[in-house]
Amino acid sequence: MSSDCLFCKIVKGEIPSKKVYEDEQVYAFRDINPQAPTHVLVVPKEHIPTLNDVEERHEALVGRVVRVASKMAQDAGHGESGYRLAVNCQSGAGQSVFHIHAHVLGGRSFRWPPG
Ligand code: 5GP
Ligand code: ZN
Repeated sequence: MSSDCLFCKIVKGEIPSKKVYEDEQVYAFRDINPQAPTHVLVVPKEHIPTLNDVEERHEALVGRVVRVASKMAQDAGHGESGYRLAVNCQSGAGQSVFHIHAHVLGGRSFRWPPG
């Protein structure tokens, strides 16, 4: 855990969030500024700043983040119509919170490539 990390504080309940799922490894909550009808963030409870910091020991944890993200999208009804899973790495790609998180976006159409 990192004491000055926004998402660590959300995981610990020090900052309120709209939780949609939690287990011993991951926490999922609604994005405060949704970019689609469904916009959920899935984070590992362990503080990992960026994708560049993912190590071999994190592989199962990152796999869990992806699987929970997929479940959140399917539970919201987007399994057949489609959804997007996005992870921004570094500010040049749009990362603004330096605790890795998967964006689950669904409920509208998406373009490729993203902006
Ligand atoms: P990034 O830009 O790092 O990929 O994504 C960070 C996301 O966190 C943004 O979509 C932003 O709206 C969301 N966010 C920032 N602060 C908060 C907050 O305090 N609560 C919640 N629920 N989401 C936040
Ligand atoms: Zn953190």
